[in-house]
Amino acid sequence: RRLDSRSGPAAGLLCECQTPISTEPMESVYEFTGELGRGKFAVVKRCVEKATGKVFAAKFLRKRRRGRDCRAEVIHEMAVLETARNNARVVNLHAAYETDHDIVLMLEYAAGGEIFDHCMSEELLPEAQITRLIRQTLEGVHHLHQSSLVHLDLKVCTLTLTHSLTHSHTHAHTHSHTHCSWSPQNILLTCLSPPGDIKIVDFGLARRLGAVGELREILGTPEYVAPEILNYEPITTATDLWSVGVITYMLVTGESPFVGDDKQETYLNVSQVNVDYSMEAFSRVSELAVDFIRKLLVKTPEDRPTAAECMSHPWLWQLCLSPEPASTRSVRERSCGTKWGAPAEDPEDKEN
Ligand code: ADP
Ligand code: MG
Repeated sequence: RRLDSRSGPAAGLLCECQTPISTEPMESVYEFTGELGRGKFAVVKRCVEKATGKVFAAKFLRKRRRGRDCRAEVIHEMAVLETARNNARVVNLHAAYETDHDIVLMLEYAAGGEIFDHCMSEELLPEAQITRLIRQTLEGVHHLHQSSLVHLDLKVCTLTLTHSLTHSHTHAHTHSHTHCSWSPQNILLTCLSPPGDIKIVDFGLARRLGAVGELREILGTPEYVAPEILNYEPITTATDLWSVGVITYMLVTGESPFVGDDKQETYLNVSQVNVDYSMEAFSRVSELAVDFIRKLLVKTPEDRPTAAECMSHPWLWQLCLSPEPASTRSVRERSCGTKWGAPAEDPEDKEN
């Protein structure tokens, strides 16, 4: 059999999934009640299971893309979701259907929308909420990494270049989010207000690392970048930690760290890790938060802490709202002897 380097295990794709793909008409089981979002090759619709009244998010994935059969990519996405089935931070796969054009994944519904909405809103979340959401994100990422999976698409850089060119002539120095935004569209919330728990979605670009050598190429890449991706260097789990750094930056400042007036300037900012921590937006941000971000936004992937190491950064624990469930604690305890020095103090252990 011909080994296609563009798909299959050599490209980090999983080839088998357990969830049966039903060809029964979905319409008899679900009622579709509107659109939740869309990406390049997918539309996500809200739907209600008629028998139970339960709400799901139906992700319609096109089987053919650019004239190519992409069934393998869909199977891969399902297999990754199955690998993470027991993780509360990853959206659950309930069922799958097949129509003439699509494979439809019935996913656990995350009612709070994208965490991105909190990055760009006028009112930022309090740091105590942000640390809770980042801890949860790290739990999910840690779990994926333990299975040798990298998400690679925790945030998306959407660059609408035509817009940006016309725009930059008139507003040469504005940092407009309309023409270039880094948006963590793949981290959702179970509830918007008060912010619920996070759910990681969209494993279309996720890849399995290891065994077959270095992974350098990502197919159908949207315009998202960590320096190692720009420089065509091997991809590792550290790429996801870069994204966690970007997302944290956005949640605490409400701004995008590398956005430039055009695509080239943005790419340059990323590859030089051009971050200004002295700007106005950081005036109300705690020193520990800055320290956390600084440690993640470093050029060399090996110098970034792992997800488990991040979990013991003192910033994540100083403003703890409530005692953490055992699952979080155990991830933290496994990460002893980290780059952060002494492990963070337990909130419950505080004397006063
Ligand atoms: P794509 O691969 O095309 O980027 P995603 O899986 O990211 O597709 O879904 C696109 C958008 O649909 C998401 O950014 C989000 O706004 C919405 N969405 C996806 N999954 C869910 C879900 N389980 N619950 C609620 N909304 C969802
Ligand atoms: Mg997406």
